[in-house]
Order: sequence, then C-alpha cells, then structure tokens
Amino acid sequence: MSKSKSSPRHNEFVEECPTCDSRTPHQVSIEIKTESRKRENREFSREPYRVTQCSRCGDRRAQRMNDA
Ligand SMILES: [Zn+2]
Repeated sequence: MSKSKSSPRHNEFVEECPTCDSRTPHQVSIEIKTESRKRENREFSREPYRVTQCSRCGDRRAQRMNDA
C-alpha cells in the first residue's frame, strides 16, 4: 500500500528551476525536434531534445542533448 499517491509520474526529476529559483520536480521527456529552418547543417536538423517542465511553475525548457 503506497501513501496518498494520487498520480504517479514516471519521469520526474528534481532539478534546478531558474524561474522558481529553487530545486523543483520536473517532468522530463525526450523529443525529436525537426528544425524548420534549413540554414543549419542537415546533421543538426533533427535532434533529440531533453524537455523539462517544472511541476511548480510550468516553465518548459528544451535542451539539446548532443551539446558537447
Ligand atoms: Zn519552476
């Protein structure tokens, strides 16, 4: 029996949120973004982004995963 767990979120990570200025639970998902503008190298036209959404303020940020 778990405690009062209303909605179990599978991809939740506690991360720093600049908007909340504190560490808050974020929902994390991976999205493949296809860049609409064709100026960049084709290699960079489709990339996995790590999308995090703050559960407190709802701020949504996408971070390119291939950033070295
Ligand atoms: Zn936040």
